[in-house]
Amino acid sequence: MPGRNFLFIPGPTNIPERVRRAMDVPLEDHRRIDCPQTVLPLFEDLKPIFGTKTGRVFIFPSSGTGGWEAAMTNTLSPGDKVLQARIGQFSHLWIEMCRRLGLEVEAVDCEWGTGVPLDKYREILAADKQHKIKAVLATHNETATGVTSDIHGVRKVLDDLKHPALLYVDGVSSIGCIEFRMEEWGVDLAVAGSQKGFMLPTGLGIVGVSQKALEACKNAQLRRAYFDFGDMLRMNEGGWFPYTPAMTLIHGLRESINMLFEEGLANVYARHYRFGEAVRRAVAAWKLKLCAKDPKWYSNTVSTICVPDGFDSAQVVNHAYQRYNLSLGMGLAQVAGKVFRIGHLGDLNELMIVSAVAGTEMVLRDCGIMVEPGAGVAAAQEYLRGSFPAATMGGKRWLS
Ligand SMILES: *Cc1c(COP(=O)(O)O)cnc(C)c1O
Repeated sequence: MPGRNFLFIPGPTNIPERVRRAMDVPLEDHRRIDCPQTVLPLFEDLKPIFGTKTGRVFIFPSSGTGGWEAAMTNTLSPGDKVLQARIGQFSHLWIEMCRRLGLEVEAVDCEWGTGVPLDKYREILAADKQHKIKAVLATHNETATGVTSDIHGVRKVLDDLKHPALLYVDGVSSIGCIEFRMEEWGVDLAVAGSQKGFMLPTGLGIVGVSQKALEACKNAQLRRAYFDFGDMLRMNEGGWFPYTPAMTLIHGLRESINMLFEEGLANVYARHYRFGEAVRRAVAAWKLKLCAKDPKWYSNTVSTICVPDGFDSAQVVNHAYQRYNLSLGMGLAQVAGKVFRIGHLGDLNELMIVSAVAGTEMVLRDCGIMVEPGAGVAAAQEYLRGSFPAATMGGKRWLS
């Protein structure tokens, strides 16, 4: 097929040409004397992206899921109680992992399309007078439903109740795209992956760890081997790893961080806000509904869009790919067949967003969902023309 694939799933995302070139290097000796010159600055440069000064950031060769496992096994003991809200497929999978690891999970089932329920968390944590709950989990950006939750709010609940549980946050589809303030929000473990905001191939699990979490490692009894923070700490000190690092990806990470810094993190977050808003305006012009139930939960990295009753969203996704070489995100689990997703994160510019909207509009009509021709495109175009990065800072939503 001539032309290129239009990749608008919420990860993996487009790899910038610069990052691809940076990875086009021969494999090298990871014990060579000058390797730490490449590795050590990365640990420092990841910190502002996670929003921490005093924490550490570890780079594991794994996907984001491995980052979850690292976070849990290093800091908890068998039978420890964990609180997590099930708000979509990714929060569900994290709950399932905790159960497999031998943790006792109190799962709060929520309607998909809503965010982490702060009131419910407050109620459960207030009742936990003996502090049996050791871990409070929150999925910052639920990629299945396009919902961003208020992590600062979770921290406030813990602080109000003086509850000592560690706070674990899945930032796989937010970190590097939506502002993340690990330190200010008192996040103890923050998990990211390489193939979303970092614009890299899959293969790195990147985990931010607070000093309080490092302290907790000392008493944590869950079995861990490959993902041991202690091994990482010892080796990272000098710029090394406890096993062969994914050096190719690490060169890519260097370049993707360079790109994020050149644009400026505040501008990166503002750009994601604007692209999210452009897609949301298109959805409104189509008279379709987002899965996210309230504007306060709208995600700047992925929009999950409901198809009208009687239509199958899997057909929309398959037709988009087969007819127009446009990759949209499938509906997952509970919302399979009911929603499709437009990922708007990573290496994107305005005209790429407009093309995704244009393609989606054509697909919807082909599938019998008779949105007004051009309505979504016009709404996105006019919003993008009239909004300027400096005038919009949607990422600030959660900061007060
Ligand atoms: C993609 C994603 C994951 C899973 O990461 P993998 O890299 O596929 O292991 C976890 N959580 C969220 C929120 C995600 O978007």
